[in-house]
Amino acid sequence: MNWRMLSDVKNENMGHGEKAEYFSCVATVVYMRKENCLYRACPSGDCNKKVIDQQNGFYRCEKCNREFPNFRYRLLLSANLADFGDNQWVTCFQETAEVLLGRNAEELGQLRETDEAEFDEVFQKANFTTHIFKNRVKLETYNDESRVKVTVMEVLPIDHREYSRRLLSNIQKLTR
Ligand SMILES: [Zn+2]
Repeated sequence: MNWRMLSDVKNENMGHGEKAEYFSCVATVVYMRKENCLYRACPSGDCNKKVIDQQNGFYRCEKCNREFPNFRYRLLLSANLADFGDNQWVTCFQETAEVLLGRNAEELGQLRETDEAEFDEVFQKANFTTHIFKNRVKLETYNDESRVKVTVMEVLPIDHREYSRRLLSNIQKLTR
């Protein structure tokens, strides 16, 4: 694994090359944008495009050019991660957001509509939790503006023995 600190993303201009770069870090979730974390998606196959509520019980997918009587909830979670030196905005799609929040998208969608306090509770529980994040980083350009985009590919529990060993080995390298 390509272990990095969050400050390396900026200091080493990660993702500025032609290809995306991948790195792993140990970081703590310090903020999540829960307001826009769920959307209603096309129920067809792997489409996942956001549907438009036709206000007549049907949902329209522009990509499939079809209307459906149902939709699927999808997660697209923006989170701020911190380690001891820096912080970084990252994007978690469906699977990684589900791991982070400990609930699946469908449950969360239902909760948001039926029990807002419980919905908030899910986020409060996930906030300030620490994990291993495997990330993809790439410079992306929209409207002449370039920004480094970090996407979480995997969220894993910390193996504390392995983590301690790695920190000790780093300290030994520094003191040698
Ligand atoms: Zn579709």
